[in-house]
Amino acid sequence: MPLDHNLNEVLDVNYSPLPGLQPDLGGHCWLVLFAGQVVLNDENSLWYRLDKFQLAIKQEAIVTGYLHGKAAGIVELSSLTVDTGTISIRTLLSESDPAVYSFLSHGLQILTSRREHAFCGCCGHQMQAKAGEWAMVCVQCGHHAYPRISPCVIVLVTRGDEMLLVRHQRHGKNSTMHTLVAGFVEPGESAEEAVHREVLEETGLTLGKLHYCFSQSWPFPHSLMMGFHGEYQSGEIVLEEKELCFGGWFHRDNPPELPPKFTIARKLVDLFF
Ligand SMILES: [Zn+2]
Repeated sequence: MPLDHNLNEVLDVNYSPLPGLQPDLGGHCWLVLFAGQVVLNDENSLWYRLDKFQLAIKQEAIVTGYLHGKAAGIVELSSLTVDTGTISIRTLLSESDPAVYSFLSHGLQILTSRREHAFCGCCGHQMQAKAGEWAMVCVQCGHHAYPRISPCVIVLVTRGDEMLLVRHQRHGKNSTMHTLVAGFVEPGESAEEAVHREVLEETGLTLGKLHYCFSQSWPFPHSLMMGFHGEYQSGEIVLEEKELCFGGWFHRDNPPELPPKFTIARKLVDLFF
């Protein structure tokens, strides 16, 4: 049975929280998480009534958007109290339309922020949610902690009709999936500098022309992936072996196994075909 998540017309993400927006506990407008899975309801839909779960709620339910114009949100359970199916968050993201992708990515990151900022990093006192913003604020010293967003770069490197693809050690030696060079932006660094550095560090290559293409939110746990296309300039491949177990050039007509369609890595590769 297909999921009823074709919701582009009726689902909006609440990027700026509105003070006083109260959750409707009895409305079918809650996306429910348990142990890295999204809990499906009897109709194979994503949306639940919150009053079904009150004793099992792990942390405060958060209104993160609107479904059919009414407040909708996300909640995580400490125990699963219904006997229905679940779907992994990654699988759901891979199958979702853009509205569900944004709603889920946003909600997951707000939940992560609330969990990671329960106590103040400056003085150790308790933090509480600030009205009208997604920040947590310290009840003692007033320190504000906003949801962390970690900028990452990912780059499609091309040389004529060939593209550079790598395999990561963390995917295991037997993995056959090839992807693109990527890495976190360091403090003080521009995104473009990060691309040049990551490509040099991981593969020993230098890039010529570089241009920004598009970005993707990636909620594991809070990355913002910024996608680039870079042209090869010079060098032979010398792998950073702590991270990569393979790197090589592939002709555009003969690609190996690639990441799934919904990933920014694949969207960048698809630009090339
Ligand atoms: Zn404090």
